[in-house]
Amino acid sequence: MPENKKSEAEKIGEKLFFKKKNAWEDIKKKDFDELMSLSEGYKDFLNKSKTEREAMVTIEKIAKKFGFVDIRKAKRTDKKLFIQYDGVCGALAVIKNPDKCADGFLMNGAHIDVPRLDLKQYPLYENEDMAYMKTHYYGGIKKYQWVTRPLALHGVIVTESGKKINVNIGEKQNDIVFTINDILPHLAQDQYKKTPAKIIEGEQLNILVGSIPYKFKSSKDSVKLAIMDHLHNEYGIKEEDFVSAELQLVPAGEARDIGFDRSFVGAHGQDDRVCSYLGLKAILDMKASEIKKNIMMVFFDKEEIGSAGNAGADSNIVERIVNDILNLYGKADYNTLIKSLENSKFLSSDVNAGIDPEWKSVNEPMNAAKIGYGVCLTKFTGSGGKSGSNEAHAEFVADIRKAFNKDNVLWQTTELGKVDQGGGGTVAKFLARYGMDVIDCGTALLSMHSPFEVASKADIYHTYKAYKAFYKYL
Ligand code: MN
Ligand code: MN
Repeated sequence: MPENKKSEAEKIGEKLFFKKKNAWEDIKKKDFDELMSLSEGYKDFLNKSKTEREAMVTIEKIAKKFGFVDIRKAKRTDKKLFIQYDGVCGALAVIKNPDKCADGFLMNGAHIDVPRLDLKQYPLYENEDMAYMKTHYYGGIKKYQWVTRPLALHGVIVTESGKKINVNIGEKQNDIVFTINDILPHLAQDQYKKTPAKIIEGEQLNILVGSIPYKFKSSKDSVKLAIMDHLHNEYGIKEEDFVSAELQLVPAGEARDIGFDRSFVGAHGQDDRVCSYLGLKAILDMKASEIKKNIMMVFFDKEEIGSAGNAGADSNIVERIVNDILNLYGKADYNTLIKSLENSKFLSSDVNAGIDPEWKSVNEPMNAAKIGYGVCLTKFTGSGGKSGSNEAHAEFVADIRKAFNKDNVLWQTTELGKVDQGGGGTVAKFLARYGMDVIDCGTALLSMHSPFEVASKADIYHTYKAYKAFYKYL
């Protein structure tokens, strides 16, 4: 048979089979350029937003440039709203029609907290004439990944008088950094016998912070005293002030391109700042003519520790946001609030695990995320028999699929690991309780929850396109 002639079976196969497509294959120059420039903005966002507080500051700054008004100062004529609670979570909303709030919102939501090491409330101590600070890890980390690397300290200290001191140490070229030490291989025989979870234990995650005794005179705790004296001079704090501080250790340095072809972004905290940034960018870039409904982008805190607390998705944060909007337009009654939530549709935007060629056995390849094959659409999460998942209804998945196809979004259906391999979940189930349709949708990562996560720029691009298509067509 001549090469250019397709067989009957091939032709029917093309028509009937679903084929995953590599996003780089035959990519148009315009898309390639847009994709590359999108990732520049993304890296800039990552560099400026290393804690949830810093992320909210960045989001507020960008939103204001785009004409969003803080809802606390907004008038009824304002249609682009910025909402924030406690400086750690919030939302942007674009109101197409204030009279249609009961019809619900097209909501996209992602989390801006990330796995990291928090300083303990009483952190500073001295041992072997060196000063250290104790940490408590936040979120699911492999503890051994956090040793022997430069760490930066970000956060806030609130003094008794209510003064807020911002801390950002370790990002500039000449800044100091901190580090957690590991034992040398020569003497690691006992360490090697331990299981990976115990190679470095939680109470060993202590950062090195100094070694010069106070006034160069050694006595008990003289190094600790010298450090505390330095902090007092620099920030005006005393030891008790750590109690009311939120100080986070994150890998020092900027987000980077990876690969000779620059096809990946490498950075800490891409789970879930990739979806946070792309959701932000999507709502900012929507043209008024493109949207028919009221739309919203929500930023959650505390996802990595179970969405708990008053800034996490397992609180009434979305109710509060919708209520504040209804209030602005004089429609805040319980019935409208409940109807609005029930009629909303929600994209639970979070990352998924891409197939890593070195660890293929954890995935079932037909239903796992392939890196470079577009945005992940995840009908259910959970573990075991889908336990703990909200599982999206087939009708909603059909609507999403249709919207994505309409805008040539490259998407793939995905799951978090093969059956009974493990699993996980995100904010989806906490929104589903309002009766709204919810589905998980986000970017695949390699090395998720590590100090240096990896995402494909092509997947980043199609995630952004997906979020816009959702606002346009749902
Ligand atoms: Mn996440
Ligand atoms: Mn996570």
